[in-house]
Amino acid sequence: MTYTEQIEVKKEIKIRDIWEAKKRIASIVTSTPLIKSMILSEIIGRSVYLKLENVHDVGAFKVRGAANKILSLNEKEKKRGVATYSTGNHGMAVAYVAQKLGIEAVVCISNRVPKAKVDSLKRLGAKIEIVGESQDEAGERCYELERVKGLTVIEPFDDPHIIAGQGTIGLELLETLPNITDVIIPLSGGGLLSGVGLALKSNDPDIRVTGVSMEKSAVMYESLKAGKPVKLEESETLADSLLGGIGLTNQYTFEMVQKYKDDVLLIPEDEIAYSMAFMMDKHRIIMEGAAATGVAAVLGNNIPYQDGDLVIIISGHNVDLSILNKIIENYMLANKG
Ligand SMILES: *Cc1c(COP(=O)(O)O)cnc(C)c1O
Repeated sequence: MTYTEQIEVKKEIKIRDIWEAKKRIASIVTSTPLIKSMILSEIIGRSVYLKLENVHDVGAFKVRGAANKILSLNEKEKKRGVATYSTGNHGMAVAYVAQKLGIEAVVCISNRVPKAKVDSLKRLGAKIEIVGESQDEAGERCYELERVKGLTVIEPFDDPHIIAGQGTIGLELLETLPNITDVIIPLSGGGLLSGVGLALKSNDPDIRVTGVSMEKSAVMYESLKAGKPVKLEESETLADSLLGGIGLTNQYTFEMVQKYKDDVLLIPEDEIAYSMAFMMDKHRIIMEGAAATGVAAVLGNNIPYQDGDLVIIISGHNVDLSILNKIIENYMLANKG
């Protein structure tokens, strides 16, 4: 494909696409609660709200994009089935939506994906293929399935329907919280930030969008710094849902994150762990590490003050009990004295 051909097929994603997504996914995805956090509001001296994307059946927001994409396939494509590779939540969302619609789903995952996520995928009726050490290797197998068996690969983030689906969170925020001035968004491939950023900034360009990632293997952060998509080694992190590359031939999310983010913050592992324990202690909310990066950014007072409401997107809750156990133990030991 030549450069000009690429430009021609590339579709610009518009706010109208997000409204269409909202209508399309309504039969599968219900809107999620937005609650005020008294304790976080008290700590930073302004109104802090939590958008609870952990309450979806699959425990993460990714069901929005997956539903929008799969519902957009034609009948032939639906019949052949879908395939995906992901660090877990996207795969779960694809399996969930496929099961609801009676479509076959194959999920290719790396051996780094936690056991809790593998078990949940199986419960959702997906066919699992475990391949290699990284999301990239799982991706290659996925495209082989597309070539050989004609399955449609459902991209985890770099796809207009996925981005528009995640953007429906932005529309829900605007409906319930007209005075929103800040949104904190966990950032990996950037589908979530692209969609929510587009929805919010179409309404008010002054809304501050802050992306948050873990310190290690923050591929989007390093790519933004380099001015082009880069590749990094994956490493162990509590925010495992934020692992994975953004694709060296990234089509949509790199540019959209460049355009819509005001800032990107990197959160150290100990602050991710503390925030997970803090939210269990003070809110009785279980978050996975990826979601905790947003709370950590607020607890660390890393968001420049401005009047108006701040929203943290609590992106998911899928974490092994053994990890939670360790985190609570450390938190209680530290708070003893
Ligand atoms: C996928 C995911 C993210 C990041 O979303 P991107 O669209 O890849 O930036 C954040 N939190 C959770 C829980 C996720 O599953």
